[in-house]
Amino acid sequence: MYRPPVTDPAKVIIRYPNRSRALVIVVEHPDVPTHPNDYLRTEYSAECAACLDYQRQDPALSTVRDWASNHALDCRALPQPEPTDQ
Ligand SMILES: [Zn+2]
Repeated sequence: MYRPPVTDPAKVIIRYPNRSRALVIVVEHPDVPTHPNDYLRTEYSAECAACLDYQRQDPALSTVRDWASNHALDCRALPQPEPTDQ
C-alpha cells in the first residue's frame, strides 16, 4: 500500500518545537482503500527532525500527539544542518 513520505509538508498537521527549536511533527496518513468493502481509517505518525526518533503509525491521534508533545519537551538535539551545494 502506498504511503506518502512523512516529510511531505502537505500531510504535516501538527508541529512542536523541541528544546533546541528543531521540529517534532505529527503527520496524517489518509487511508487508501484496497478493497470495495474496506472502511477508511486515517492513521497518524510522528517524528523528530533533530534526533530522528519516531512514533509508528497509530489510528489514535491523541496517542501520537502526546508522544510528539512529550518528546518536544525532552529532546535537546539541534536541528539538522542545512544542506550545502558545494
Ligand atoms: Zn528528538
